Amino acid sequence: MQHPSVDVAIIGAGTSGAAAAAFLAERGLTVLCLERRALDEAGARWVNGVPRASFHAAGVDLPQGDEHLGGPHPAHMIAPGGRAAVHDHDVIDVDMRRLVARLQARAAAAGARFVEGATALGRDRGVLRTSAGPVRCRWIVDASGLGGAGLLGTPALAREDLCAAAQEVREIADLPAARAFFAAHGVGPGEAIVQVGVAGGFSVLNVKLFDDHRAGVLTGSIPALGHPSGKAMLDEFVAAQPWLGRRLFGGAGPIPLRRPFDRLADDQVVLLGDAGCQVFPAHGSGVGAGMIAARLLADTLATGGSLRDYEVAWQRRHGGLHATFDVVRRWNVTVDAAALGRAFATGLVDADVLRAGLDQALPRVAPRTLPTKARALLASPALAGGIARTLARGAAIRALYATYPRDPDRVAAWGRRVDWLAG
Ligand SMILES: Cc1cc2nc3c(=O)[nH]c(=O)nc-3n(C[C@H](O)[C@H](O)[C@H](O)COP(=O)(O)OP(=O)(O)OC[C@H]3O[C@@H](n4cnc5c(N)ncnc54)[C@H](O)[C@@H]3O)c2cc1C
Repeated sequence: MQHPSVDVAIIGAGTSGAAAAAFLAERGLTVLCLERRALDEAGARWVNGVPRASFHAAGVDLPQGDEHLGGPHPAHMIAPGGRAAVHDHDVIDVDMRRLVARLQARAAAAGARFVEGATALGRDRGVLRTSAGPVRCRWIVDASGLGGAGLLGTPALAREDLCAAAQEVREIADLPAARAFFAAHGVGPGEAIVQVGVAGGFSVLNVKLFDDHRAGVLTGSIPALGHPSGKAMLDEFVAAQPWLGRRLFGGAGPIPLRRPFDRLADDQVVLLGDAGCQVFPAHGSGVGAGMIAARLLADTLATGGSLRDYEVAWQRRHGGLHATFDVVRRWNVTVDAAALGRAFATGLVDADVLRAGLDQALPRVAPRTLPTKARALLASPALAGGIARTLARGAAIRALYATYPRDPDRVAAWGRRVDWLAG
């Protein structure tokens, strides 16, 4: 590689990096995006559920054709002793190989340059050091995912804050048997079986038929809490279901579940996507959050703002929601499958609450559901108390995020207050 000089060097060409490359180049900045793998191997290589609203918010067209594997699929949340169905959520199934390729193509069309097989190694003032040579740049966007380039000195991630997830798309070897499996769960063929609490409170086993030929299986758990990994859960499920045929594609990996890092930038480097823990912690979804963050970053820099302006804007606008659902996730890991079943059965956790979680939004409690919730509170005071404490903590944390300090020297003290509130 010649020694280029650009406005922005981006590390990683997954969703966050490729989206940032597109948005920044479209706003007139010169962009070089480095990817340590081949470009057509970058980022997520499986099917992810992404709310349509996040495409709208980021300014990315909705997936079409083969990129869209259907949905929103009505989701049936099932736990021993209780279940709840969410029919009208906003999450569609996206072939991430195609979304990443589309974002890379959009960036290239806007003038961004990509270099594959190049690893970011470190930085000096005004220079990003890479395995392909130095890059002179004003800003560095670290979109290298979890455990990527590590240019900003972020805190180590606790193993309890890591979800081990797996997702596969498989052929349907026996359609009548597949339909019988769904019917046995009281779920229609175009709908999703979402078993929760199968390996600890946070865990999930999500199965759906995309069409008559392909099925998707998604699993996730927190192994550090003594549970099998998502990949082990998925393999066990597949082995027990002969109607599932040949594996078409998929993948597995860790997802950060903690709230976003308190510092996302200094004056040279900014973290984007999984690299900054900009992941919705209740279920480890980072695609929508990464694209939205990339859009805010591009808008900020293109209008003369600094990385610090972006950091403050993102934390104040989105950080409180993420941190609230980190508190929800921390509560979730403390309850077992039976308690989740009770929460569904009593209406304490109902379709409105679950829909908000799927859509990555705050739930609004409908007044009509208040009598049910009051009865549930009396029937399960310990469970209801846990949920009420979680909601109160979330509200206090959101208020604190609205005051995320503009002075970087005050962020550490602010972060300790968030830690205290999060318990
Ligand atoms: C099995 C599974 C299922 C998931 N399901 C969902 C879901 O349903 N919905 C959802 O929203 N999210 C889901 N996620 C999470 C989602 O995939 C991630 O949040 C998302 O891919 C993060 O995008 P990113 O661009 O920030 O990072 P990544 O996708 O990790 O991309 C980072 C890129 O940087 C490159 N890189 C790393 N280090 C360097 C370096 N030093 N130099 C150069 N390049 C480097 C990597 O090769 C990679 O291509 C799931 C994750 C897993 C593992």
